[in-house]
Amino acid sequence: MSYLKVSDISKQYDQGSDALVNISLTLEKGEVVSLIGESGSGKSTLLKIIAGLEVQDRGEVYLGETRILNPSQKLVSGYDEIKLIHQGNHLYPNSTVGENISRPLLMYDKAYREERVKLILEMLNLTSFEDKYPRQLSGGQQQKVAIGRAMSIEPEVLLLDEPFSSLDTIQKRELIEELRAIFDQMQMTVLFVTHDLDDALMMSGNLVILQKGKIVQEGKAEDIFRNPTTYYTAKLFSHLNIISDKEGAFIRPMDILIKNKGRNPGKVSEKKFLIHFNQLTVIMPEGEIWKVEDKERTCEVGEDIYLDWDKNKEVCLSFVSSDDLPTS
Ligand code: ADP
Ligand code: MG
Repeated sequence: MSYLKVSDISKQYDQGSDALVNISLTLEKGEVVSLIGESGSGKSTLLKIIAGLEVQDRGEVYLGETRILNPSQKLVSGYDEIKLIHQGNHLYPNSTVGENISRPLLMYDKAYREERVKLILEMLNLTSFEDKYPRQLSGGQQQKVAIGRAMSIEPEVLLLDEPFSSLDTIQKRELIEELRAIFDQMQMTVLFVTHDLDDALMMSGNLVILQKGKIVQEGKAEDIFRNPTTYYTAKLFSHLNIISDKEGAFIRPMDILIKNKGRNPGKVSEKKFLIHFNQLTVIMPEGEIWKVEDKERTCEVGEDIYLDWDKNKEVCLSFVSSDDLPTS
């Protein structure tokens, strides 16, 4: 029996345009999964339905044995067991960090409240900020307080809807790593939604990929990377170079070896200095334009080079729509 079970959910806001189509997924207790999809793919709609905050057209959500009722079926919508956190979860500006976190606990007795707030502050490494006001904190710290507030009533499931979009990259990476450790320690079940693959991977190696309201692939990140089932999921991870003599076959820039003789000749037409490698643009014999990673940083513009790769690293797709391919 799985813990959180989303079964065949569909939703249209407007006649004829699908926000979600037959979405099913399950999370075990303590599992952390990243759900990735571009803007408008239905991520927020799905989280709201799971939290019981939006009405679906079809399908059910279960938390253990409990069926999650939507706002048309339940007087007070939402559940204490399932907490949805998004970027707009504003803190109470005139309450301290400690008061913000204890706010959802108002109906509990004082001793429990104090103990719970103390525990959450320690866990989030915010103890020294207990008496500060939100405006005295960085963006990342404010988001941590928002998550602490959501965790104060001991929810079973956290749904995170791009809660870190306003943070800069380094802050975000550190926060994601810190939270992941806390989620593991607390055996928290988490569905983390983002449009950013780096963030998704930083949070979890278990991915669900949503495209236009449909789950197009799910599983371990490395399996999806090696064996994508659609061009869209293949392309999420990197640029794809088209292998012209093999239909539906591609090679990723990071899987190419640069040689000074051999097969697959090409001419370097552009070089960009990036953090981990020089990115080369290479013109291939039939005019195809490839991207290649020069980790040694030895190739120069105008140079003739030869490209090689392990056949096992080719990405082979059984169907690629012509709309997917770059026109050159
Ligand atoms: P995401 O979070 O992935 O950006 P959303 O779930 O917000 O996607 O939106 C999915 C689709 O549903 C989009 O086409 C969006 O325009 C539409 N949509 C979202 N909320 C509403 C709403 N309240 N009324 C009408 N259409 C909506
Ligand atoms: Mg959204």
